[in-house]
Amino acid sequence: MTEHSPADRRLPVVLVVLACGIALILAGQSLRTLGPAPVTPTPAPSVSSSAPSPQVETGEPGRDAAEEPVRLDERLYAVGELAATDCADPRVSRIDADGLAAFAEQAIDECLMPAWSPALERVGVHLQRPHHEVVSADSITTDCGEMSNANQVVAFYCTQDRTIYLFTSGTSTYAERAGWLPMAVLAHEFGHHVQNATDSWPITDDETTDRRIELQAECLAGVWFHDGQQAIDGFSRALVVGRYVSNDTHGSAAVRTAWFDRGFDRGDTDDCRSYTADTGEVG
Ligand SMILES: [Zn+2]
Repeated sequence: MTEHSPADRRLPVVLVVLACGIALILAGQSLRTLGPAPVTPTPAPSVSSSAPSPQVETGEPGRDAAEEPVRLDERLYAVGELAATDCADPRVSRIDADGLAAFAEQAIDECLMPAWSPALERVGVHLQRPHHEVVSADSITTDCGEMSNANQVVAFYCTQDRTIYLFTSGTSTYAERAGWLPMAVLAHEFGHHVQNATDSWPITDDETTDRRIELQAECLAGVWFHDGQQAIDGFSRALVVGRYVSNDTHGSAAVRTAWFDRGFDRGDTDDCRSYTADTGEVG
């Protein structure tokens, strides 16, 4: 097996994580209400090609990446169950920049951080709150490169600036879908933030690497929903997984559902071992 330093691995991860929002849109009802866009477009190649080589710095301050153990994801699996929260039905009340920003702030501060932060403290990881930014323009230049709302991207996470970006375009169903759809988006993007904070990146570099990252984020979203579902008026697991469609980056709809369920069933991060799963489990 060829050895790679953690830093070697993180560059492609950055590019991959940028693409995560694409599938979330595909998973949402909004796709079908927005016109004749193909149901399964290929991931935008510009995500990879337009991103400059970033100065990768995903480790915690003061730590020497060269001294990291190979299995960087073990801390994430040791987290186990999340903390109880008093998260109260976050929802997008208005489809505009202010409405989305208010939702993201509530979801992060009242629902996601209180659940994840104490849990990560148990394994020695101090979770910094991710930034969030609502984007009204069609594209934005981030520390991870330029991202646009082409292919109906509604959200993405940039590892370099630790920011969850939400596009105002293409989110017309957020309000009518109450809290579960936007929370499904936020919980997935927050999953990438947790991966970032715990240096949880694959040790594999085969063609399934990108998918393993995304499927772990699906699983981490499921971990949050295990308890968080109680806060969501109108939440239904079937609604969430029913929006999944197949694509190369995220895998088949059945596989995505399976990984969401792994987290959702027990609410334990130890069930999110996508990096060592058999190839057939990430197809
Ligand atoms: Zn993603």
